[in-house]
Amino acid sequence: MIVVIGSINMDLVLRVPRMPLPGETLSGGAFRTIPGGKGANQAVACARLGRSAVAMIGCVGDDAFGATLRAALAADGIDVDHVSVLPGVATGVASILVDADGQNSIVIAGGANDQLTPAHIDAALPLLARASIVVLQLETPLDTVRHAIATAYGMGKTVVLNPAPAARLPAGLLAQVDYLVPNEIEAAMLLGAAASDDHAGSAAALRAMGCRNVLVTLGAQGVHAALADGSRDCPARAVTAVDTTAAGDTFIGGFVAALAGGADPASAIDLGQRAAAIGVTRHGAQTSIPYLNELEPT
Ligand code: ADP
Repeated sequence: MIVVIGSINMDLVLRVPRMPLPGETLSGGAFRTIPGGKGANQAVACARLGRSAVAMIGCVGDDAFGATLRAALAADGIDVDHVSVLPGVATGVASILVDADGQNSIVIAGGANDQLTPAHIDAALPLLARASIVVLQLETPLDTVRHAIATAYGMGKTVVLNPAPAARLPAGLLAQVDYLVPNEIEAAMLLGAAASDDHAGSAAALRAMGCRNVLVTLGAQGVHAALADGSRDCPARAVTAVDTTAAGDTFIGGFVAALAGGADPASAIDLGQRAAAIGVTRHGAQTSIPYLNELEPT
C-alpha cells in the first residue's frame, strides 16, 4: 500500500490571455473549480498509474469544497478514512492563473491543511504499518511532516519527500528520506544557493546532506537522477505543453506507483515522465492526470 500524507485543495482556476499587471483588471478569463493540492494530486496519480492500494492522510473543512474533494479521492479508489473533516474550518484553496502559454501563477490559502497535526499521524499508525511507501510534501505544517517522516522511517518504510513549496529543511530530516524529489527551485532552496544549471552538482550536494536518492525534476528537460547506484540524465518526452499544473505531482505519483509495483528506479522514473508528459498536454491538476492504460508501451 502507498500512503500519501499532505494537502487537499480546491483549485480555483482562471484561464487568462496573459498575467495581469499590479492594479490591472483583465477581462476574457474562463473559470473552473478543479480538485488539487499537492498531496491529493500525488495520491490520485498513484491510484491512476499503478495497481497498489492508496490511502491519504490529510484534512478538509466541513464545507462544500471539502465534501467534493473527499468524494473525488474516494472516486479514484483512495482510502479516505484518515482524511479528517474539521468543523468550522475552511477547506484549502489555491487561486491559480494560467496564461495562454500554459505558465501558472498560484496563491494558496492552506485552511484545513494547516491543521494537520502529529496526532493525526499517530491516529493513522495502523494504516502506516500496512504501507510500503509513504509520500509527503510541504503544504502541511513542518512539525507534522517531520513527525510523519520520523515515524515512517522508524517503521522501515520507503520515504518519498517532494520538498514543495520550496523551503529550507532542518538537518536530520533528509537523512530519513529515501527519495527526495525537488524541482530546480526547490533544490536550490534546500542548498541555500542560487538555482544552478549544474544539476548533477546540486543532486550530489543534496545526497551529501543525507537522502539516499535525489531526483531533480527539470520541466521539459526531464529529470536528473542521483541514485544510490549512480547518476543519470533522464530526458522528458517531447510534447507541446498547454498547462504544467501538477506536472511534478503526476511524475511523483507515476514514479511511486511503479516503485510500489516492483519496478527499478530507472523504469519508475520513465513511467513517471511518460505520465507527466501526457498531463502537461491537458488542463488542470487532477483533471490532467492520466490512467495507466493511456501510457504508450515502453
Ligand atoms: P514541478 O511541476 O514540480 O515544477 P517540473 O516542471 O520539473 O515539476 O515537471 C515535472 C516533470 O514533468 C518533468 O521532470 C517532466 O518529466 C514532466 N514535464 C514537465 N514539463 C514538461 C514539458 N513541457 N514537456 C514534457 N514533460 C514535461
